[in-house]
Amino acid sequence: MECIFCHKDSSTSKSIEHIIPESLGNKDYFLPAGYVCDECNHYFAIKVEKELLSQPYFVSMRSRNEILTKKGKFVREKMIFPSALKSCEVEMRTTRNGLMAAFNDTELYELIKAGKIRTMISSYIPEPECPNTIMSRFLAKCAYEYFLYIMGKDKYNLCVQELLGSKIDTLKDLREYARYGKGKDWQYNQRRIYSEGDCFINQSENIHYEILHEMKFLTAEYKRYPNGKVEAEIYFIICIAGIEYAICISDSDISGYQKWLEKHNGISPLTDETETLIFSLSNVNSILIKKDDDRIY
Ligand SMILES: [Zn+2]
Repeated sequence: MECIFCHKDSSTSKSIEHIIPESLGNKDYFLPAGYVCDECNHYFAIKVEKELLSQPYFVSMRSRNEILTKKGKFVREKMIFPSALKSCEVEMRTTRNGLMAAFNDTELYELIKAGKIRTMISSYIPEPECPNTIMSRFLAKCAYEYFLYIMGKDKYNLCVQELLGSKIDTLKDLREYARYGKGKDWQYNQRRIYSEGDCFINQSENIHYEILHEMKFLTAEYKRYPNGKVEAEIYFIICIAGIEYAICISDSDISGYQKWLEKHNGISPLTDETETLIFSLSNVNSILIKKDDDRIY
């Protein structure tokens, strides 16, 4: 096997490549060992994903949604205690008895116990900073990997030959931008399509659920020429905690997607017709309700 990014032999590589990091709650979308070599896997983990997840929005979002780290720990976020003029890293979690806050500060603990502190403020950061090079490279990585993912394991050889071996390597720019930061920054489109914590109902199965992330490819322009050649403009669309991000897989320009949105009244390509938004808890509570939480029934 050879690595889909650097082309080096990856037969002995052990890394399983998660398209979206496990620290963003992804357990379903990954490429088996050998697709991405240990070196490239490590590079993305440290230089792209870790950088991205330590940005203020992601710390804040993961903390309030109780998305655990890869090691199963809660994300700590800085909270302000105005009456004590102090701040402290706090771990928040939903329990049967309400919200529990854990922190390591004896003075604050004593003040709270004595009833001298009644307020704790967190900084609610609703959206990631945009444009954002790390986000853009992360999207490029996800798009490229998701492409290989949907092709399936049995097409691995064919894909690698088509992509890495051929002269017409359509995804080369995307791949090298993700892995090496080559070329100018790729534009992407970012917008909120639903609130954090919105619950959906699937009518055919009648189940309630919240969506942490979903993704797909959108073919916006498709032309077949008389000589059989096909020209297509393909966008990778991903939604993480209610925010939709879109990047073109063959061009660093995103204006085509924006035009597509205008033509389609701004409806997200991710919208599933069998899925209807039933209610929003985010207006009253910014914390995502867990699927097994009895409050949603
Ligand atoms: Zn590699």
